[in-house]
Amino acid sequence: MTDLSFDGRAFINGERIAARDGQTFDCLSPVDGRLLTAVARCGEADIDAAVAAARAAFEDRRWSGMAPAQRKRVMIKFAEQLIAHADELALTETLDMGKPVKYARSVDVNSAANCIRWYGEAVDKVYDEIAPTASTALALITREPVGVVGVIVPWNYPMIMAAWKIAPALAAGNSVVLKPSEKSPLTALRLAELALAAGIPPGVFNVVPGYGAEAGSPLALHMDVDCIAFTGSTRVGKQIHVMAGQSNLKRAWTELGGKSPNIVFADCPDLDKAVEAAVGSIFFNQGESCNAPSRLFVEASIKEAFLEKALKLVPQYQPGNPLEKSTVMGAIVDRTQLDTVLRYIDSGQQEGAKLIAGGAAVEPVKGGLYVQPTIFDGVTNTMTIAREEIFGPVLSVLSFTDAADVVRQANSNIYGLQAAVWTRDINKAHGVARALRAGTVHVNQYDEDDITVPFGGFKQSGVGRDKSLHAFDKYTETKTTWIRIDSPL
Ligand code: NAD
Repeated sequence: MTDLSFDGRAFINGERIAARDGQTFDCLSPVDGRLLTAVARCGEADIDAAVAAARAAFEDRRWSGMAPAQRKRVMIKFAEQLIAHADELALTETLDMGKPVKYARSVDVNSAANCIRWYGEAVDKVYDEIAPTASTALALITREPVGVVGVIVPWNYPMIMAAWKIAPALAAGNSVVLKPSEKSPLTALRLAELALAAGIPPGVFNVVPGYGAEAGSPLALHMDVDCIAFTGSTRVGKQIHVMAGQSNLKRAWTELGGKSPNIVFADCPDLDKAVEAAVGSIFFNQGESCNAPSRLFVEASIKEAFLEKALKLVPQYQPGNPLEKSTVMGAIVDRTQLDTVLRYIDSGQQEGAKLIAGGAAVEPVKGGLYVQPTIFDGVTNTMTIAREEIFGPVLSVLSFTDAADVVRQANSNIYGLQAAVWTRDINKAHGVARALRAGTVHVNQYDEDDITVPFGGFKQSGVGRDKSLHAFDKYTETKTTWIRIDSPL
């Protein structure tokens, strides 16, 4: 395993290539601090080259001009390539960003492959429309690819976040320039090679690694990029919309942060299941999930019983070596993120919350970056750890008295990505679900999911939706063709 080697060069026009100015940055593993490889530190000149390749591919219709059924076959082969290289991709993801390899294999690779296959399979089954005009006209409403799509993704689910965007964009016939996070660039570069091997023509899918300000901004500001699809923080998401407006008014779609409320009523149908979901979902992926249920609201009358059960589960989430099969919580992506998490833990203590589990960095693997599963009780909605996204394994527990109280507290946040409600009362479940301002509301479960449903947020959790057929709307323009019919009859 340790002699796996990585190619950190960019992928432009079907070829591996160093940054134009030869610059690289070190890609370190959070598992144990080892250097994985030097990665091309792309800048404006590299973005220009990638966009030019994508534009040329789009204009000569080598991909956009293919029949949807043909693109479908290639996309399905692309998905099969991921499965054929599943072990390598999973190991790369784990070494690059620290998640347990068993989840990288069972969740990340499978979900990315499924997403690519699903959009491939869908694309020759979506029909356009004919408008209900008078008989003197035939008005066609067709969807056409927008052209060159820039994609910028974060590091927490590198393959899945990329797949959610590149799959519908490519299936619809666009060309893509993807900038992965500088914290986890390696699998994206392999995806581009696998796409080429599957038959996606050179120039159609390009990958340019680099830092946000150096490679991301030139992509978002580029005058020849038609659409920018971004997943990341709300702070940078706001800048993406500004850059779209400052340049060519490219379509801008942003999937941003979250601080999702998980609401457990005293009449919860299965308390053990609710406890498992509350604990398991916040500690999954080291808490580095946009939709992590990081604010747990438990009805006051059952809070003590709930926390007693939750604390019994905590030991099984102690971080360990992500390369070992038994590990369920791995390493934090890098030193900056580790320090951010520890700062939030400190602020929880300073502001008067009660630390009841964890709270410290640990080193189960020498040189690695790990944080204990951490729980704060006695949190109030005005504390920093209840308001801000921590993006680490830290659960804030709050309590409430009734449905109106908890809906008010849950909605009192800038984010609106996901939420959950646990109750056996169908009226309460439905009423609270409708009142919560969130893109997805789970009822009596957390985190069940599949590609058929949209994913995205209300409020400052972003603009637009990934997944489902709705995602095609982001990567297609709607065109009306009005044909005059002079009927001879
Ligand atoms: P980030 O915003 O720091 O970075 C995201 C990407 O943007 C990276 O590729 C980065 O290089 C790039 N970037 C940074 N500055 C840029 C700039 N000035 N111009 C252009 N690009 C720039 O976020 P992150 O730390 O990588 O990811 C964590 C965030 O992502 C969390 O807030 C999380 O909630 C969010 N997220 C949201 C979803 C969702 O679907 N809503 C999914 C996963 C992660």
